[in-house]
Amino acid sequence: MNNSFIILASGQSKRFKSDYPKQYNLYKNKQIYEHSVDKAIKSKLFKHIILVVNNKNLIKKKYPKIVKIIKGGKERSVSSLMSLKYIRRFRPKNVLIHDAARPDFSNKLLKNLIANLKKYNAVIPYTKSKDSVKYKFKGQLFNLDKNKIILTQTPQAFRFKVLYDLALNEKNNISDEATLFIKKDKKVKFINGEIMNNKITFINDIKIQKTYFGLGFDIHKLTKNKKLFLGGIKIPFHSGLKGHSDGDVVLHAITDAILGATRKKDIGTYFPNIKKYKNIKSSKILKPFIQSLKKSNFTINNLDINLICEQPKVSQHRNKIINSISKIMDLDKTLINLKGKTVEKLGLIGKEKAIACEVIISITKYD
Ligand code: ZN
Repeated sequence: MNNSFIILASGQSKRFKSDYPKQYNLYKNKQIYEHSVDKAIKSKLFKHIILVVNNKNLIKKKYPKIVKIIKGGKERSVSSLMSLKYIRRFRPKNVLIHDAARPDFSNKLLKNLIANLKKYNAVIPYTKSKDSVKYKFKGQLFNLDKNKIILTQTPQAFRFKVLYDLALNEKNNISDEATLFIKKDKKVKFINGEIMNNKITFINDIKIQKTYFGLGFDIHKLTKNKKLFLGGIKIPFHSGLKGHSDGDVVLHAITDAILGATRKKDIGTYFPNIKKYKNIKSSKILKPFIQSLKKSNFTINNLDINLICEQPKVSQHRNKIINSISKIMDLDKTLINLKGKTVEKLGLIGKEKAIACEVIISITKYD
């Protein structure tokens, strides 16, 4: 299996507005080029993996010996030729050439490309166009039949010797190695590419939505002569929850869950036990945080609540509580779940001396 995998990561990313070239930006918790290197190593299909970069000092990661890092040229075709010249010493049978800006290819695609090299000199993955395509020529627009349009991807696979000879003789700046074969009327085998294997071209391509979870917990003592508030509504009961505020454990736990998900400490940081907040309604504590979520483009995915008490029976009040939370949070009812948990009459909660609540929330940031 004398296969080499060349990863071109020396592009200048002119369309990618960022402080670094795009291949060094983070995508799914790794720098973009790392995905390709890691997948190639993991596949065990390659004897040599060549990472072509502009600046070797930017690669901080320690890779095993099979990964060679070399400096590329200004244009893609120059880097490609430099890497082909470099791997010649390894006498590879096959070579795959890949753009680091496509981090989402699968191992299956690698295997499929190499398998096809048994029969063909060049194997190119492609997808069909989802958009209609027009061609501008001498000031006129022509509609192209999108079923006849194919979009080529990388990795592209070649028998080394055939590609090397073609590349050596090519004087023009070509966009990919498939072009070499097509220009020279050499046979190319097209195989199905992968829709997920998109090229990252614009910074918006990797501004992916980030999802966070937050956990909230609260417990308050029950006391006679106080009204019971759960989830922002009054529940008929023999006691109410003691606290500096109305003691609404549900809304307090939700607030802390939001603060957890947004990494903003805890409810006591914003609403300490000071005179100003004496007997404050808990919806007034929660609402500002809902507003700030919206302001920062967060969407709540769902909210799950465990209300832990012996009495009152949560099932009897579930719908009312959910409706109230839905209103306070401006959140669709179907995204809220409320579970009642008893504690087998154990401890303070079991003896109806306290009520506790735990909450988990999931939020996603859309830029
Ligand atoms: Zn509380």
